[in-house]
Amino acid sequence: MELQRADHIGPLDMFKIGIGPSSSHTMGPMVAARAFRKSIEDHCSEAELSEGDWQVTVDLFGSLSATGKGHATDGAVCAGLAGLHVRENTPDEIWATQNELKKDPWLNINGARVAFDPDKDLLWRKWRMNEKALPHPNTMRFRLLKNDQVVLEDILVSVGGGFVEKAGALKDNSTTSDGSLPNPYNTAADFVNLVNESGKPAWQIVLENEEARGTSEAELRQELQIILDTIDGCIERGLSTEGILPGGLNVKRRAKSIYDLLQSGSAPAWTESDLRPSVYAMAVNEENAAGGRVVTAPTNGASGLIPGVFRTLKEIHGLSNETLQNGLIVASVIGALVKVHASISGAEVGCQGEVGTSCAMAAAAAVAMLGGTANQIEQAAEIGIEHHLGMTCDPIMGLVQVPCIERNAMGAVKALNAAALSLASDGTHLVSLDKALSVMKQTGLDMNKKYKETSTGGLALG
Ligand code: SF4
Repeated sequence: MELQRADHIGPLDMFKIGIGPSSSHTMGPMVAARAFRKSIEDHCSEAELSEGDWQVTVDLFGSLSATGKGHATDGAVCAGLAGLHVRENTPDEIWATQNELKKDPWLNINGARVAFDPDKDLLWRKWRMNEKALPHPNTMRFRLLKNDQVVLEDILVSVGGGFVEKAGALKDNSTTSDGSLPNPYNTAADFVNLVNESGKPAWQIVLENEEARGTSEAELRQELQIILDTIDGCIERGLSTEGILPGGLNVKRRAKSIYDLLQSGSAPAWTESDLRPSVYAMAVNEENAAGGRVVTAPTNGASGLIPGVFRTLKEIHGLSNETLQNGLIVASVIGALVKVHASISGAEVGCQGEVGTSCAMAAAAAVAMLGGTANQIEQAAEIGIEHHLGMTCDPIMGLVQVPCIERNAMGAVKALNAAALSLASDGTHLVSLDKALSVMKQTGLDMNKKYKETSTGGLALG
């Protein structure tokens, strides 16, 4: 049984290298499809699969059905079923798979041929499944059939940020620590107390927990550096690429032209401090919208905000790689708290769960990297989330482009402002982060589903 506690979600759970445009609608389905392929590999030998007519079918429900086409869910499912890996394969390899399967509709599993035609076997379903309410807005049903009889079935849910779970999987929602970690925490208040009472830096608390979970500091830092390098590569590609983003909305990439303006020194002086984090955020989100290599932070839709803030602070303050790694660690604590006590999924709580969460993570990380206290870290995160409460998810045509790209730019500026406000005070504030997260969760529950990544309301209506 999985323990649902913030201290059991580490930096490498929160920051994952993957592909755009959506963590819940692209990465999650690809991970789920690959997991189903693995189930087939484990259950059926070549000899079994060589006898009779075998076929895989995939049903996409809820928000996946509503906006999955714009998020390349079909292409991601094809790649996962074909055995490609979201991190190890290049975006070009991943996106070529669907067309290859259309031409030759067979999966090679354990050396045998299993039929899967994306045009016939991948089905976009309506809201309900077998007349019962869906287990989650992002639900997928994978089936393996032999001679039209179901042999294997998995119902998987994509819960945001590339996280995938079995529908109905038992979870231990106990708030009590299982004693396996040296620094247990499940609320922001716990974390602040731990830092204050121990006298250790905030990231050290997490490093010790990760060590107990089996990842040494050296291993964790090595992986975090790969994540930082991947983010940098994404920014560079975004800043040097022009053209129209795919999907049919005809959105023009703007990061390069804004960056060129900044570099030329012709942007008005008063705009520079806002344009800098904005353009880095947009560079990443444009890469994400084009289906490129990105890092969930905590999701793909919100993948530009943290890069925008980190790159800006690195340039202004000359932050070292180790300091930036520490920033990712602190950011992950905030992301984990949101995931456990509210949600990081636009389909569950709207964009407050994606850009709002990312803003809180970036603000907290900025304060930590600039030497703030635990109370200031918590305050910055609270400001970051408080001023995104109720923000809807209504992407036009289901594409992670409008409002998503600019929304990351705006969020990056707000995160820096939240950090500045917090660092300018002593960390004392009225609304706690824990309170803000409970309000965020309730607001998400109250939000009409047309504003939760279904493209049936708000800006999506045109
Ligand atoms: S509006 Fe926000 S939550 Fe919705 S897809 Fe865009 S970034 Fe994600």
